[in-house]
Amino acid sequence: MPVSSTKRVYLDHAATSPLDPRVLAAMEPVLAGTFGNANSLHEEGRTAFRALEDARAATARALGTRAASEIVFTSGGTESDNAALEGIVDRARNERAGTHLHVIVSAIEHHAVLEAASHLAALGNEVTYLKPREDGFIHPDDLESTMRADTVLVSVMAANNETGCVQPIDELARIAHAHGARFHADCVQMLGKLPLALEASGVDAASFSGHKVGGPKGVGVLYLRRGTPFAPWMRGGGQESGRRSGTQNVPGIVGMASATTFACDRVVAEGKRLTTLRDRLLAGLLAVSPRVHPVSDPSQTGPLLSDGTSAAGCGVGGVGAHLPNIATIVVDGMESETMLLRLDMAGIAASGGSACSTGSLEPSHVLLAQGIARELAYGEVRFSLGSTTTGEDVDDVLAVFPAIIG
Ligand code: PLP
Repeated sequence: MPVSSTKRVYLDHAATSPLDPRVLAAMEPVLAGTFGNANSLHEEGRTAFRALEDARAATARALGTRAASEIVFTSGGTESDNAALEGIVDRARNERAGTHLHVIVSAIEHHAVLEAASHLAALGNEVTYLKPREDGFIHPDDLESTMRADTVLVSVMAANNETGCVQPIDELARIAHAHGARFHADCVQMLGKLPLALEASGVDAASFSGHKVGGPKGVGVLYLRRGTPFAPWMRGGGQESGRRSGTQNVPGIVGMASATTFACDRVVAEGKRLTTLRDRLLAGLLAVSPRVHPVSDPSQTGPLLSDGTSAAGCGVGGVGAHLPNIATIVVDGMESETMLLRLDMAGIAASGGSACSTGSLEPSHVLLAQGIARELAYGEVRFSLGSTTTGEDVDDVLAVFPAIIG
């Protein structure tokens, strides 16, 4: 059954992606030669500082903002999410001393947001978890009816890492602002998959991670729109204009900037290429058996309801788009772990839900929040495509899949 005795088909790009050789080439001279502390005054420090600020300017350009000062480098998506939630709420608490604060996060967020939100709740704030509808999308009307006078922050991810549903963040941010709240978007999965223009978008804060787009692990970006009230989450020497202390990881940051630039430069062409591959993969998987269902179908078959049937398309004002690279299914009567092990033995790397939840026997909180029945949610498999994915990879998966679920 293996695809071949040596070949591997890597379809887990939403968990992490291989380092782009061009990114490695950009990082190598910095790793080898630019050892100075970017905050030191001497020549070695100034050289590192120039590399750091060039990387900041390139990242800002790629993400669609003119102000490089809005880019804060962090250790990755998890830190950016934690810093955004805690930093914005902490500052609001200082400004409204003693008042009761309300935070809204979607129920389908990555654990980096969900755990930061539960920490905020433990500190005495009130958190509302906004559910998606059965189509997998957070609907603007639902946010509108959840907003309160004491809501200080709304956090909804730009695109979900399991279902690929692209949330209407501009509209959601507009609603948050109309009620005097700030808006944060986890854009980790959106980067390099669909065009992003931060300045034009309404978001006050956004999180990014390098390793999802051919960059190194352990480096990310927190975008903080100018004027966004923020208390530093990481305290110390006051680096990153006081917003994130700690000596900057200049080689990693150069890699982050280079990966972000490459990913954003080719986003439209790559999006089209991946859409074609994703559509063929998903259609092929669904054709294998009526036991295979999409969790949120990018074609028109629509979302899966808790009784296992599908509803009609999901086109409510800006709601309904999907990432081009994610094909997630649930297979009735199968367990995710069994299928993933069989796929791995066949030479194919995929995942069930998010990598961070691997090892947990609980079905995905994302699928459950969407109303997918627990028994079905146990059978989740996510194939996530990326820069190295080819048509042959899709053929290989489709060739072995009947045996995987047989
Ligand atoms: N947010 C989302 C949507 C993610 O998919 C991930 C990674 O899986 C993260 C945040 C965390 O990013 P990092 O691995 O850089 O900490």
